[in-house]
Amino acid sequence: MTEVRWPNGARCAVAITFDVDAEALYLFHRENETRPKTLSMGTYGPLRGVPRILDLLDRQGIRATFFIPGWTMDNWPEQTREIARRGHEIAAHAYLHEQFNTLSPDEQRAVHRRSQETAERIIGRRMVGVRPPGEYTPETLGIVHEMGFLYDANLRGDDRPYRVKIDGQTTDLIEIPGHWELDDAPYFLFAAGTGYAPLRIQSPMAAYEAWTREFDGYYREGLCYVLMTHPQIIGKPGRAILLEQVIEHIKQHDDVWFATCEEIARWWLESGQP
Ligand SMILES: [Zn+2]
Repeated sequence: MTEVRWPNGARCAVAITFDVDAEALYLFHRENETRPKTLSMGTYGPLRGVPRILDLLDRQGIRATFFIPGWTMDNWPEQTREIARRGHEIAAHAYLHEQFNTLSPDEQRAVHRRSQETAERIIGRRMVGVRPPGEYTPETLGIVHEMGFLYDANLRGDDRPYRVKIDGQTTDLIEIPGHWELDDAPYFLFAAGTGYAPLRIQSPMAAYEAWTREFDGYYREGLCYVLMTHPQIIGKPGRAILLEQVIEHIKQHDDVWFATCEEIARWWLESGQP
């Protein structure tokens, strides 16, 4: 297997990412508009999770990538600006957390356009990366490329970044893949009685064991470790301790490059990797 090259001889890359879904996660399903308890699970993310996570990242000296739906930016503008002010990357995550497989190609374009306009209005700049929620359609990546994004970060087919092929042509759109085992939702997302995600809550230690063991493997092979989490899930008091312990485990290793997804995508292009 060809070795991946990382900057300054680093052995592997680590991107800590947060999807600040807030209430938008639930509001995309219209029946939730009249369900205050369900919506309040989303409220927890920007209200309590984000400030706790920002302090944790400051303590650890790490810059992360926050994927934020336009709706969250419009309804939580102070939290959104604070994320940017503390030096983190903000990337696109649809407007109302639309599931992309339910959208026509033109609707997908309109969602990207609306989320970029919102970012320009709230944080004063456009976003270079996108994590479209839900399943993709065959057109989704072509549209992401056509809309001028530098990278996409939601496919599962590799553990290294790569240049996306569209209609048989290799492009300069970079995919930064993620994996369900490095996502907090399968361990912790729970919503009794709402019919939404009827999953069982696992112990933080289950995630700790999986996330640190996966890191050990990524480190051994020199790959791109992408933790995909949500402030409404990982931002709870005890789970924030879990996240910090995972970061401390990673920091016990030499030559780890903590980077934002934008930095990883730019490195991939500049270093001419496939
Ligand atoms: Zn999301």
